[in-house]
Amino acid sequence: METKKIVVKGVVQGVGFRPFIYRLGRENNLKGYVKNMGNYVEIVVSGEEEDIRNFLRDIRDKKPPLAQIEKIEVLDYSLPLPYRTFVIENSGGKVEKGGGTVPPDVSICEECLREMWDRKNRRYRYPFIACTNCGPRFTIVKRLPYDRENTSMADFPLCEECLREYRDPRDRRFHAQATCCPRCGPQVYLLDSEGEVLGEGDRAIVEGVKLLNEGSILAVKGIGGTHLACRCDMDHVVLKLRERLGRPTQPFAVMSKEENLELFAEVGEEEWALLKSPRRPIVVLKKGRDYNRYFSEHISNLDTVGVMLPYSGLHYLLLEGSEAPAYVMTSGNLPGHPMAIGNDEILHKLRGIADYFLIHNREIVNRCDDSVVKRVNNRVVFLRRSRGYVPEPVVVVNHRDIRENRENIIAVGPEINSTACLIKGNRFYLSQHIGNTSKYETFKYLSEGIERLLKITNTRDIQGVVCDLHPGYNSTRLARELAERFDAELYSIQHHKAHAYALLGDEDIFQDSIIIAIDGLGYGEDGKIWGGEILRYRDKRMERMGHLEEQFMPGGDLCTEYPLRMLMAILYKRLEREELVEFIRGYNVFDDRTLELILFQLDRGINLQETTSCGRVLDALSAMLSICQRKTYDGEPAIRLEGFVRSRGYSEREY
Ligand SMILES: [Zn+2]
Ligand SMILES: [Zn+2]
Repeated sequence: METKKIVVKGVVQGVGFRPFIYRLGRENNLKGYVKNMGNYVEIVVSGEEEDIRNFLRDIRDKKPPLAQIEKIEVLDYSLPLPYRTFVIENSGGKVEKGGGTVPPDVSICEECLREMWDRKNRRYRYPFIACTNCGPRFTIVKRLPYDRENTSMADFPLCEECLREYRDPRDRRFHAQATCCPRCGPQVYLLDSEGEVLGEGDRAIVEGVKLLNEGSILAVKGIGGTHLACRCDMDHVVLKLRERLGRPTQPFAVMSKEENLELFAEVGEEEWALLKSPRRPIVVLKKGRDYNRYFSEHISNLDTVGVMLPYSGLHYLLLEGSEAPAYVMTSGNLPGHPMAIGNDEILHKLRGIADYFLIHNREIVNRCDDSVVKRVNNRVVFLRRSRGYVPEPVVVVNHRDIRENRENIIAVGPEINSTACLIKGNRFYLSQHIGNTSKYETFKYLSEGIERLLKITNTRDIQGVVCDLHPGYNSTRLARELAERFDAELYSIQHHKAHAYALLGDEDIFQDSIIIAIDGLGYGEDGKIWGGEILRYRDKRMERMGHLEEQFMPGGDLCTEYPLRMLMAILYKRLEREELVEFIRGYNVFDDRTLELILFQLDRGINLQETTSCGRVLDALSAMLSICQRKTYDGEPAIRLEGFVRSRGYSEREY
């Protein structure tokens, strides 16, 4: 007989790990306990040497599908062990420092789905059905350890039957923190724009589907955020949504049943795997030949469409009765603002945009936008890493300094399309997608997102804070505050150097490299706007080796909104004056006064910024080809240029 203490680190909370260990312990005739310590799991076992060996092997070989084991430590244990059998102990009160956090949200599993469609099941058509293998995690957790009282499920005490399942180690819902049923769990409500309740529970959903079929726009509060939903196949409905949102052309993502997907999109094997994975991201797909038969032309003016499969019970129920091949499912927010998640907030902010509101009474603790991925040159790249991936860390092993890092560091991100990152050792915990932090609400969201990251990783001290070199960003100000609060070192880094380092980290390659940064804008070390940079990484240093030709931006930011300004500035260097004026006038975008003003700015050097941005050159080209004369969303001229080129039959490698 021997006794061992085993410490397991990694994603081992909220994934059915303890019941799994419990079963293994019993199967291998061991005595002892398993205990959740907040960010790791502690096991003490006593038994025959061979049984313990088998037990350890089984932990690795048979672990639950969602668990990720980073490390197993086996220590000798000499204290007396007062157990006659193997048990699950209550969570440790004192949470230890060190690695680990909750897993990301997981889409509804096959078993729960089967139960939800089973008339005889007590959770028949219940949208919040969940078990240890599926359901929300990150979006409901307030702090560690991941126990029900530390989540927004604390508002819903378990009924007798649910409690029985919750306490039964042989049950799929044993210690499933999000489990509930129609008797004890959250409920959905259908409201009109005045806040009047039109229906509750299943009736609300049935009515909601009817309204969608009739062409209404519904705000649907889901698991980690709120979508605006409507049919994808009615022009006037899609246009109504565009007009109300003030989003004239930015493509909408759609949600479709699996069996409808190939009607309107081309789906490769790898794309299928992504679509169906428990992370359920939006996958950008090439439009199929019959796309126009099923979709309004106003969904996407590109040659692609962003598609996701349903990932919660509510989505399946909404799609079930749909007469349309898919729903538009776009984030419920005004452009540039974070998604509305509180019930009052949803009603207040989306009034005038949504006709009806399908909400529920469970709090969304951590807002989390849908993730977006796309296949480029046979590789999958993130356009947005958020729901389904956050807060799972990116782990870097190939850089010695990072591998041996003992410090906790916060990086606050730049300004547009921001995410924050908490670095602990060699683990990089990226926040969910935050957005444009020049807007106050989004800036607040960034600051809250960072606080939450600290909580759910049990981080109390910070040694370093990193921000963008730009002195005027809100995020830079936040970094200064954080550095002061934690008495930490403050570092600022040039935007594209940060991109380059991130790329090295993503690939986990830290060799001498040449890196090309093709971007919209970032504050340069010379005070100019950078964005088309050749960088060299050597001897742990990043250096600017070269860049695109500097171009003037007459009117500053106006150039990003009206790319023809950029074209004019570029051609100003090449063409005779009359030739230039005649050429630009031909586009009918600027009146003569504006034309004169731009020329005046270029002649006199007034209100001119200088930039090496590659984005601005692509914008100018897009304007030159009359593809896009006004930017209505981030990156639009270049994105539409790409779509234009591909629709002419060029592959990615050719252009
Ligand atoms: Zn499940
Ligand atoms: Zn219940």
